[in-house]
Amino acid sequence: MALRSEYRSAQKKSVKITLKYLPLHSMGNEDVLESVKEYCKVWSMVNYSNNWYNGHITNICNGDRFVYIAASDLDKVPDQINIGEYRARIFRPNAITTCKQCQKEGHCSNDDSCPTRAL
Ligand SMILES: [Zn+2]
Repeated sequence: MALRSEYRSAQKKSVKITLKYLPLHSMGNEDVLESVKEYCKVWSMVNYSNNWYNGHITNICNGDRFVYIAASDLDKVPDQINIGEYRARIFRPNAITTCKQCQKEGHCSNDDSCPTRAL
């Protein structure tokens, strides 16, 4: 019981960060995890991000990874992390999102506020 509530509160205080510009095949998620752990507490496994196409998620991976970290450690994470010979660009939850449909900032491509949704 105690464990479960601890787990819950940890979930609440975690934030998702996305690591972009990593190779899909020549890098293991363990390498990514090891590098991220140097900066912050990591609450989840490293996962592959899926590509979005026309507002729908696809099963195509592109090398981007995402991981949940402790929210209190978010400020400790640099904008870029070197992993092996690659440099990952870190995207945070408070980063401005750019819509893939209309290229405007402030909403995702599947958001109802996107003007292309009304077409
Ligand atoms: Zn849009």
